[in-house]
Amino acid sequence: MKAVAVFPAEREVRVIDEPAPRITSPTQARMRVLDVGVCGTDREICAFEYGTPPRGVPHLVIGHESLSRVEEVGPGVSKVRPGDLVVTMVRRPCPHDTCGACTQARQDFCFTGDFEERGIKSRHGFMTEQIVEDERYLVPVPEALRDVGVLVEPLTIAEKALIQLWDVQERLPWACPHRPGRNHGHCRRALVLGAGPVGLLGAMALRARDFETLVYAREKPPSPKALVTAQIGATYVSSDDVPPDQIAARFGAIDLVYEAAGASKVAFDVMQALGANSVFVFTGVPGRKAPVAIDTDLVMRNLVLKNQIVYGTVNAGRDAFEAAVADVGEFLKRWPDATRALISGRHPVEEARELLIGRAGGIKHVLAFAE
Ligand code: BGC
Repeated sequence: MKAVAVFPAEREVRVIDEPAPRITSPTQARMRVLDVGVCGTDREICAFEYGTPPRGVPHLVIGHESLSRVEEVGPGVSKVRPGDLVVTMVRRPCPHDTCGACTQARQDFCFTGDFEERGIKSRHGFMTEQIVEDERYLVPVPEALRDVGVLVEPLTIAEKALIQLWDVQERLPWACPHRPGRNHGHCRRALVLGAGPVGLLGAMALRARDFETLVYAREKPPSPKALVTAQIGATYVSSDDVPPDQIAARFGAIDLVYEAAGASKVAFDVMQALGANSVFVFTGVPGRKAPVAIDTDLVMRNLVLKNQIVYGTVNAGRDAFEAAVADVGEFLKRWPDATRALISGRHPVEEARELLIGRAGGIKHVLAFAE
């Protein structure tokens, strides 16, 4: 069985032959992997900046954005059946019974840091032909999403961010007045930083809730990213045309920033220009570079005097996965071309190395393992 693996000690990335996995507990299912997305995290792991092989193993099979089809189930499996499409959740709980998050199936909020993540931290991932997993980590996906179901996992980042947003903003009267036919973000303006897959999926989630949405990225239009932005009714703004501190002056007060670029300088420049009661959500993980100067007095003054909130969010729970499945279906109905355009290419496993360590253009590249 072919698998894409990194060997950190040898500083190597290669396609290897792994034994096919077997069901070893009654509540497990065995899946045939169909599609696996390549993302920034995978590329960082392949640059040896991130990622940990399972204990005592020289390599890590990568891949955590997947869509697969159930082929075989153990006798205790009740939620999925052979033939079903599923997305597999990424994080597994830490072993400590003192961790209030992991003991309640909220390992996405693990307190100890001893969680494991398939394809990232201490557990092999999904960039291979078959996988076995306990049914509690499987999320069923309707057959209609066969072509785009691989977008579910990267969308869970925005879903988790939005679930928290509504909780956080209950601190004040923030909800929009009910308007027939309009969703609950209709009176708010959101700014998405970055037009990669996480940014564009976040923009779609915001548009689906009727936020006025700006997508702010480096690249000048025309580009596939700017086209997707226009197709979903959002506004594409290039940082070449509008500097970060001019965005609010140009487009009006920003209620929410959804950061999905992993570039801290731009993020903090934007933060300094935010208005009252705004929320800034970080999802990017920047590499460690030289320190960047920011006006900390200004940031702190604004946070206090304008009641601002900043939070970071990582990974996702079952609620966000289920919301993402529903939303990908919704996106496909509302914006079929834009949704499909997020997948720039489907590639055979032989092209994995090039996608992981080469200069990948486009939006989201997918390795197709079957069908
Ligand atoms: C994955 C998350 C994971 C995070 C940090 C992201 O690329 O989508 O599931 O928690 O990386 O490892």
